[in-house]
Amino acid sequence: MDMTRIRERMVEHHVTGRGIRDQNVTRAMLMVPREKFVAPGSEEFAYEDAPLSIGEGQTISQPFIVALMLEKADLDAGDKVLEVGTGSGYASALMSRIAGHVYSIERHERLALQAKERFEKLGYHNIDVRVGDGSKGWAEAAPFDAIIVSASAPEVPSALKEQLVLGGRLIVPVGRGEAQRLKRLTRTGAAAFEEDDLGGVLFVPLIGEDAWTATHPMYT
Ligand code: SAM
Repeated sequence: MDMTRIRERMVEHHVTGRGIRDQNVTRAMLMVPREKFVAPGSEEFAYEDAPLSIGEGQTISQPFIVALMLEKADLDAGDKVLEVGTGSGYASALMSRIAGHVYSIERHERLALQAKERFEKLGYHNIDVRVGDGSKGWAEAAPFDAIIVSASAPEVPSALKEQLVLGGRLIVPVGRGEAQRLKRLTRTGAAAFEEDDLGGVLFVPLIGEDAWTATHPMYT
């Protein structure tokens, strides 16, 4: 299989074909081999515009939604960014090809370790991965120019808002099940944020102290 050609076709159909215009994002999507981030045996489905299972009941997100989140985060070369919910590591890998440094936090140790190994193998050296509860952010590395949350929260976690620079962007799905909305908050002052609704989405739950509890009946 010629993965480069298949990757180009995916970007053409599911990314630029669906309105993503940010060339930083399309360039990163052409560079990062998504087939290296899916579970063994799923490589042939890596370039379909769909989420895929990665174990632990979690998924690698649909390419179009990742592209949309990254475009709305408006990433620049020198940016310091945080991803909450590393999962396979694919979205963090994309961000690492655009921004200066990526911090990525994942609650499942096995997924975090696998993502770390992938980054090492691919030579992506500007990503730090940590196992933990990302609903509290990553205070030691804050503030961030952009934060991407790849799981849906009951409401926007306050620590994440506080860890943005002035002008920083937080992209976060909020809500339960099919009622989720993707939001963008832009910090406009010490306690002031502009909020945009980016549409309906379907993410796995963000589980943590400032999120859903692991024992919530919806999510056990
Ligand atoms: N962006 C990822 C990728 O490209 O593969 C997909 C992320 S997956 C949809 C969401 C991830 O968020 C899961 O791996 C899940 O374990 C993780 N997660 C859920 N709650 C979390 C929390 N409080 N802190 C860190 N990770 C969390």
